[in-house]
Amino acid sequence: MIDLRSDTVTRPTDEMRLAMSRADVGDDVYGEDPTVAELEEEVAGLLGQEAALYCVTGSLANALAVRAVVPVGTELLCEAQAHVVRAELGAHAALAGVTTRTWSHPRGLADVDLVAPMVAPDVGPYFVRTAAVSVENTHNFAGGTVQTPEQMASVRALCDAEGLAMHVDGARLWNAAAATGAHPQVLTGGADVVAVCLSKGLGAPVGSLVAGSRETVDAARVWRKRLGAGWRQAGMLAAGGLWALRHHRERLVDDHAHARLLAEACGVDPATVETNIVVAPVPDAAAVVGRLASRGVRAGATGPSTLRLVTHLDVSEQDARDAARIVAEELA
Ligand SMILES: *Cc1c(COP(=O)(O)O)cnc(C)c1O
Repeated sequence: MIDLRSDTVTRPTDEMRLAMSRADVGDDVYGEDPTVAELEEEVAGLLGQEAALYCVTGSLANALAVRAVVPVGTELLCEAQAHVVRAELGAHAALAGVTTRTWSHPRGLADVDLVAPMVAPDVGPYFVRTAAVSVENTHNFAGGTVQTPEQMASVRALCDAEGLAMHVDGARLWNAAAATGAHPQVLTGGADVVAVCLSKGLGAPVGSLVAGSRETVDAARVWRKRLGAGWRQAGMLAAGGLWALRHHRERLVDDHAHARLLAEACGVDPATVETNIVVAPVPDAAAVVGRLASRGVRAGATGPSTLRLVTHLDVSEQDARDAARIVAEELA
């Protein structure tokens, strides 16, 4: 099976497993796991933040991040297809009393011309107040689209002008960095709080981080424990994340090349595929997924007529070529 459903399906490499088995560990609730501390410091550095906190999922990292910058009963602005509003099961409302309003952009981008008119100032006890803007980089459901450093800076400028906080869902920020050659920090636009995943294309088995100021991360640590997600000798997992961060970032460009091969097979202009996700319109996505599965290619349907193919560490160039041929035949 060539599994293109998601970049979350990777299995740790032998070298990563070795690093994990040898990790130095301690009780992280006591702040005594050296490998977790090393990972947190390294990620904070890459994102230009004071501190970071290791979390079990990107959804938890986003939940802690949004809670940190959006007070109860105020609102977060985000794009209509953003993971925070579509794929986290209402977490921000359910856990933190956060409301959301969305703008729509065909490529999922945070275009300040769309965002600026939505900002709701504090007018007392009449209307909800906007507290923060969330940007997803790369944007998952829009097809792995990248927001450039310039676009991120323009959102930062808007937030500064309006007194708002900025959140970045950087589950695939590493892909944006590989695609543009820009430093990860620059691709966050200097956001107040950033979530990143190690368990997507980087290939770690588990783990995400939330990064921000020391104060934000200290508060997130309290909430992580309160939600029952503190962990003990997690260094064995963190070691997989460190390995992924140090050895699998540069190779993400290969995934992007493989995605362009698949795009061609789907009749999608490869030039529009910026990273590792191909979103293709098809007449009946569920039927196509079924036919592909019977031929050894697992794909995803993200809508009734939307096929999604995602490349990652466990898809070789040969796999991508084989899958592209099968996809082209099934769509013909
Ligand atoms: C995968 C993903 C997350 C986090 O997902 P988890 O499965 O909770 O780790 C967050 N944002 C985006 C854009 C994602 O693609």
